[in-house]
Amino acid sequence: MRARVKQPKDPADSRPRRRRGPDGAGPPSPLLDDALAERLAAAARDPALLRTDPAPRTGPVYVTQPFLPPFAEFAPMLREIWDRKVLTNGGPCHAEFEERLAAYLGVPHVALFNNATTALVVALRALGLTGEVVTTPYSFVATSHALTWGGLTPVFADIDPRTLNLDPAAVEAAITPRTRAIMPVHCYGHPCDVEGLAAVARRHGLRIVYDAAHAFGVRDAAGSILRHGDLSVLSFHATKVFNTFEGGAIVCPDARRKDQIDKLKNFGHDGETSVIDVGLNGKMSEFNAALGLLQLRYIDSAIDRRAVIDAAYRAGLAGIAGLACLDGSGEARANFSYFPVLVGPGYPVARDALWEILKAEGIHTRRYFHPLISDHPMYAGLPSADRSRLPVASQAADRILCLPIYPDLEPEVVARVIARIADPLGR
Ligand SMILES: *Cc1c(COP(=O)(O)O)cnc(C)c1O
Repeated sequence: MRARVKQPKDPADSRPRRRRGPDGAGPPSPLLDDALAERLAAAARDPALLRTDPAPRTGPVYVTQPFLPPFAEFAPMLREIWDRKVLTNGGPCHAEFEERLAAYLGVPHVALFNNATTALVVALRALGLTGEVVTTPYSFVATSHALTWGGLTPVFADIDPRTLNLDPAAVEAAITPRTRAIMPVHCYGHPCDVEGLAAVARRHGLRIVYDAAHAFGVRDAAGSILRHGDLSVLSFHATKVFNTFEGGAIVCPDARRKDQIDKLKNFGHDGETSVIDVGLNGKMSEFNAALGLLQLRYIDSAIDRRAVIDAAYRAGLAGIAGLACLDGSGEARANFSYFPVLVGPGYPVARDALWEILKAEGIHTRRYFHPLISDHPMYAGLPSADRSRLPVASQAADRILCLPIYPDLEPEVVARVIARIADPLGR
């Protein structure tokens, strides 16, 4: 029998909630401060509300801030782990989190990890890949590092200017006789052209491993975006939409693959006395899993609050010459993990100048992803890293700026960011 972790509230309340419908069905979120939500929603309807009366500065604002549930709800879970003295190696919190997470995401199986980088390394190992893997230069460096740890050669292909995700035509053009797989990223949680990439993979007999570090909870019209490709890897790092302090997971299509991956993340052990592969230690601890269980109760309201901030930015930044907000790509449910804007030639100052102007006011935006992975010294020597072969990615890296977005971001700060971007040289 599977051990269950006693939840601090009644069991019905501890189940992950469906996103509340427009009728407001479902219990109100304890974290959704109604006054704040109403102010943000009003600002989204009428950007003039945001352009006036920015409040005085209250310390630095970062591009993100980790979302944490009330500590009072975490404390009893810690107490239980203390009393049980099962800290890791697939304890009861781990088992329950795996089950609830798969149900929440709407995927067959997940294998939990201590972080996404280890999970990416294991995912590639599980598929037995060798040779070259076509990947995006427009990502966090862990995407290519995982390939390198696996003895694979990253081959960079250019991205689509609309989504900033791998362009299937560019992928196809980068294929050589040594190519075995594609590793795309759902950048900012915006879905890749999954059909286009699947068609290329089919034509050339390639595997697809999605770095889905940004894509927690994202769905397309037919279900979870994580069902595409052979495997998808999530990150639960503190900076991501859904965090377990540190953590990650591989979404597995069937129980056999999950079983293989579970062995790989535990040193390759198969039973007590047999080791069958070069495994590593990728296990998630009970503490991280307990936090994950608690986070599942709040994630929908956290994403709802991000959605309101996203709408307020879009309304407030509409019509500013030379500035473009990046759109999603048809997700049925987005996660609003980032708010990227492109600072183009028609804008009064260059991207880096805007970044400096905002920083001088204590607003720390991020140039994700600048430089490109292919610009870093350790990858710049690869033939595919040449910027002239990556014109779209290069231009995006030069223009991109990610604005602060997180559930507790105050409307005053959103207003201040909008006002400054609307008038970067004003005072
Ligand atoms: C954050 C991130 C990772 C690494 O995730 P960790 O959990 O920190 O190891 C990998 N790829 C992308 C695209 C990321 O943003």
